[in-house]
Amino acid sequence: MPDAGGQSHKTDVIIIGAGPVGLFAVFELGLLGLSCHVIDILDRPGGQCAELYPEKPILDIPSRLKVTGQELTDDLMAQVQPFSPTFHFQQMAEKVEKLDNGHWRLTTDMATVVEAPVIVIAGGGGSFTPKKPKIEGIEAFEGTSVFYSVRKMEQFKGKHVLIAGGGDSALDWTVNLNPIVASMTLVHRRNEFRGMQATVDQMYALEKEGKVNLQIGDIVRLNGENGQVSSVTMKSKDTKEEVELPCDTVLPFYGLTMKLGPIANWGINLENNRIPVDTEKFETTEKGIFCIGDMCTYPGKLKLILSGFHESALMAHGCFHYARPDQKLRFEHTTSSSSIQAKLGAS
Ligand code: FAD
Repeated sequence: MPDAGGQSHKTDVIIIGAGPVGLFAVFELGLLGLSCHVIDILDRPGGQCAELYPEKPILDIPSRLKVTGQELTDDLMAQVQPFSPTFHFQQMAEKVEKLDNGHWRLTTDMATVVEAPVIVIAGGGGSFTPKKPKIEGIEAFEGTSVFYSVRKMEQFKGKHVLIAGGGDSALDWTVNLNPIVASMTLVHRRNEFRGMQATVDQMYALEKEGKVNLQIGDIVRLNGENGQVSSVTMKSKDTKEEVELPCDTVLPFYGLTMKLGPIANWGINLENNRIPVDTEKFETTEKGIFCIGDMCTYPGKLKLILSGFHESALMAHGCFHYARPDQKLRFEHTTSSSSIQAKLGAS
């Protein structure tokens, strides 16, 4: 649940990032009896899966023939539920300090303070924000008739949608929303698209059938009042004239900026904005700070969810020695460990 910030907590492990890898890290740490606080700037779990492609199928999660970004997130949340992690959403992990006892103190931009012997950075592509079109007054329509992502397709049912952009997201949503919208206009500044060829072909096929109104030009103005768009004015690439395109919903997909953000200031060694780690424990150059998922780098690193899952398991074993220095770690399989089964309520 989102919290108001300003509180102090102690835990075994602080995880930065509630993407798929941060969530699975909670599970792997939980198996070893370690408790976690998880911080994310987004308002919900799932990272890129929930934010960028919640309704698209992922086809390379082992044993899941097909699972959408949102389904995977929901299942990971159900999987960590027995370990009762504490989530701090809509908070930026901002400052990290080393304490005299060797532990870490992390402070968020909402003055939440968490202390722990270990920090795990699962920050993925960083704290990402959509690139906004430079259109005067667009803020007045944001959240009511201008949206930078599709969270629920249902929301756009029966709408007159105008999509702006020429990359994968713009093309995907032009195709995927097409069956449920009242009308679909796609505006791109040139007659070349950066998306997958198959989707470009699908979009052109829909245009041929009259189901996509493809316009080449630059959006210069949003028209409407009280936050409700009624049309978009576009300067045509061909005629250089202004054309008014009626619509009630605008989805600009101009890409995302992913910024490393405050992590860049924590004194951790960086390589092209990613954090080098060893491949035994996934520890950074700072002892007691680990990094997994898209944000870490090592020879052969693949930015895949399954790589992050593997990294989580090894990282958890590395963390255990900081969190329980007096205890010996016993490796156990979930199929045969009665204590793990009891923790998971599966005995
Ligand atoms: P992320 O999912 O990026 O999550 C990181 C989280 O950390 C974010 O929520 C961010 O808000 C948060 N964060 C970062 N810094 C801070 C901070 N300072 N404070 C607070 N919060 C912070 N992978 C596959 O395996 N198969 C696929 O089919 C596949 N398809 C993809 C399709 C698309 C369109 C995209 C964009 C990616 C795809 N990927 C796929 C890649 C996959 O999404 C990533 O590998 C995965 O999301 C990485 O997970 P993560 O948890 O490391 O990072």
